[in-house]
Amino acid sequence: MVKKSLQFCSFCGKSKNEVMILISGMDAHICENCVNQAQQIIQEELQHHHKKGGFVLNSNLKPKSIKEFLDDYIIGQDEAKKVIAVAVYNHYKRLNLPAKEDDIEIEKSNIILVGRTGTGKTLIAKTIAKLLNVPFAIVDATVFTEAGYVGEDVESILTRLLQVCDYNVDVAQKGIVYIDEIDKIARKSDNPSITRDVSGEGVQQSLLKMLEGTEVLVPPQGGRKHPDQKLVKVETKNILFICGGAFDGIERKIGNRIQRQEIGFKKIDSNDEKIDKENLLKYINHSDLKAFGLIPELLGRLPILSYLEPLDKNALKDILTKPKNALVKQFSKLFEMENIQLKIEDDALDFIVDQAMENKLGARGLRSIMEAIMNDAMFELPSQEEVKKFVVSRSYAEEKIKKTNTSKQKVA
Ligand code: ADP
Repeated sequence: MVKKSLQFCSFCGKSKNEVMILISGMDAHICENCVNQAQQIIQEELQHHHKKGGFVLNSNLKPKSIKEFLDDYIIGQDEAKKVIAVAVYNHYKRLNLPAKEDDIEIEKSNIILVGRTGTGKTLIAKTIAKLLNVPFAIVDATVFTEAGYVGEDVESILTRLLQVCDYNVDVAQKGIVYIDEIDKIARKSDNPSITRDVSGEGVQQSLLKMLEGTEVLVPPQGGRKHPDQKLVKVETKNILFICGGAFDGIERKIGNRIQRQEIGFKKIDSNDEKIDKENLLKYINHSDLKAFGLIPELLGRLPILSYLEPLDKNALKDILTKPKNALVKQFSKLFEMENIQLKIEDDALDFIVDQAMENKLGARGLRSIMEAIMNDAMFELPSQEEVKKFVVSRSYAEEKIKKTNTSKQKVA
């Protein structure tokens, strides 16, 4: 008879009888006390690493895998996703670079995204932050004015970032900030004006240093700085700034430039690629943004430029059903929690998409349309235990939307 040998923790040497849990590996065992201790050591090491300003970028995370991650959440926009995957990869590679004097300094790769409202600009920035597990803040460029005027100081951009990570400055210094509506601080005309442009060029000027990398004194509660307030010092050289804007009418500027170029260079090769006049945005470059009213100094600090395509019906339908947290999946989950199986018929989805196209809010409009359609059912069904399945047909959806439209008209 083989005698079963007594098992010991390979780390502290205690026998199985002396501990509560003994986990077996290939040739070793570990008890619950040693697991706890190991966990503590890992935590301390990681904190130490963060304190030193290091950032642990998962070594498996290559530009391709960054894009694949984005694909799970964002429909279409392949070009923007690719450009951003590379920019983000390089940004965090730069953060991990040991600081040596003779090293080539890799410049920061802040990003500017151009595309209509509701096409996924904010979502891309947010998803990148989720992937990297860094703090993320969204701010609106329109609330800022030049120091000394009514409005907020640009420094309060960093207040939001500090707030989302409980004022942990080390963590905030590696975060991502999305500055929305950057087009709204464009200079009103292409010529620098003699009068001061408080809300436009002045704000662009005050953003420069922050985007490039500097120590900024941040008012911890946001708003305006005042003399007796204790300010928090934040270094911005490792913060990734992503700016976004719709740049209404930029297509015209792109078109004009292309036309000028075509005349200037007189097409020699008749096989030249034809210009896709329907989607001029894909030819956008920094000079178009300058023509729109962003100053060259600011553009110099936003070297990565990409565009988001308008979403067509197919894309909107995919957005309803395909992303990891697609709206239809979210509603199905809510119904599942009531033990009800939800089915939204295909032509009902088409109707939702048509409504969203009419509203011209891009994918942003989908949620409120879904809510309007589902609200009555979400009100009634939790009290009707016998209902196990709920089907949304096109006519049901149409009826609910008609109802909300007429009730809105009554209010108006
Ligand atoms: P904007 O381009 O105005 O920043 P957002 O990224 O805020 O638009 O999009 C608003 C909402 O619409 C998002 O939260 C998301 O639910 C949805 N959405 C927009 N574009 C896409 C897309 N390409 N793929 C998936 N969802 C999208």
